[in-house]
Amino acid sequence: MFDQVPTLLERLFLGQSIPRRAAFARRVPRWLIERIQAAEFQKTVRLAGARSEFYRERFAQAGIDPRRIATPGDMGEFFTTSQDLRVRDTSSFLCAPPQAGFETTGTTAKNKRIYFSNEEVHDIGFEGAVGLWNLGLRPSDRVVDAFDYAFWNAGITLMHSLNAVGCFHMIASKLEPAEFYRRVKDYQFNVLVVDTAWLVGLTEIAEREGVWPVKFILSGSENMSEATRAWVESVWKAKVYQAYGQTESLGASGIECPAQKGYHLNELNFLFEIIHPNADGFGELVFTTLTRTIMPLVRYRSNDITRFLDEPCGCILQSLRRIDKIQGRGDEIVSCGMGMISPWIFEAWLGEFPALADDWQVAVSQPGVRDIVEVRYELRDEATDSAALEAAMMQRFAALYPYYEKNRAMGMYELRLRGLARGALRASLSDSPGTRHKLRRMLDQRTATAALV
Ligand SMILES: [Zn+2]
Repeated sequence: MFDQVPTLLERLFLGQSIPRRAAFARRVPRWLIERIQAAEFQKTVRLAGARSEFYRERFAQAGIDPRRIATPGDMGEFFTTSQDLRVRDTSSFLCAPPQAGFETTGTTAKNKRIYFSNEEVHDIGFEGAVGLWNLGLRPSDRVVDAFDYAFWNAGITLMHSLNAVGCFHMIASKLEPAEFYRRVKDYQFNVLVVDTAWLVGLTEIAEREGVWPVKFILSGSENMSEATRAWVESVWKAKVYQAYGQTESLGASGIECPAQKGYHLNELNFLFEIIHPNADGFGELVFTTLTRTIMPLVRYRSNDITRFLDEPCGCILQSLRRIDKIQGRGDEIVSCGMGMISPWIFEAWLGEFPALADDWQVAVSQPGVRDIVEVRYELRDEATDSAALEAAMMQRFAALYPYYEKNRAMGMYELRLRGLARGALRASLSDSPGTRHKLRRMLDQRTATAALV
């Protein structure tokens, strides 16, 4: 019965009105969301077990009878991984013929393919409109987006959200920031929707040549450090919000609210779990699609490390749970002389230095007997005194991480800082189109194959 609730609500009450949906979101009780999720979860597992060759096989191997599954916990350690999507033919996941397809962008050579019906694409964009409304988007606003449209879903999802709100919208697509600036300035768009790394380039131009009045900027696809956000906001004199998502979830799994403290999750379309959490609640985000019938995903491991945030934020979406900023990727934990190291250690440290650009990378190598942990950073401004900066960085490292500093003092590893020209890390990815959105933070170069990465 509860799986009928969203359809009934939509037919009888919500209709196509985003303001009405926004008002409803504020009042929807948490128990109702959870009941709907539970009903849709069971339906999805049964559909996958009945129609998808991949799930039929995998459920049989794991001894799972879909009719007996009520909650994710009933499935034990059964998960779908990104490796499954890469190795298996995409058609083996399908429950019905698709009408739309996208590819993931990532850090490995083979892109994953994800298929949908046109209705699924429309619906997820449509429902994302409430998140934009929550940030202040209204029909009178003028929006431009600079998303990359090649094989990627973000722009299409956004387009359906903007159609739902009814505001003026133009697609610039991913131009060079200078060309974007030149061509867009006259239009006086007051909402910009952009890629995080790209926004930095645009903001540098705007800082030199002037800004126009902007209501807010929404950036997606990658984490932005708080130092960078503060700088971009100061240049544009506007709030910068972030969205969180993956192509596997059709982009829109979460969006920030005016509080800028974590992403509200799209819990009407996904059931989220955080698996194997540590003492602070950080673990890997896993989701099951609840409303997809073409290519449902059951307990898909996002590979993103985060935690649930429980303190209330006061916005209209507060019935929808939030997750913290993504702390790193689950497969980017490296064991070396420094200890078990992961991106969030470096994020917290490097994020304290406004002189550093957002892109950085840590490479672990062992040319001699000792591990070398090389931190490759880029300077925001070439004129920065890098010797003084590096001294300050080393000092701060020791203060933040006494344990790692002690290992260093004991000669268990060597910590090296290496400044690179601005854009060098990302330029090294440019000949591989699949890597254009995500830069690998941690490289373990101690094995022959890893050295080729
Ligand atoms: Zn909120």
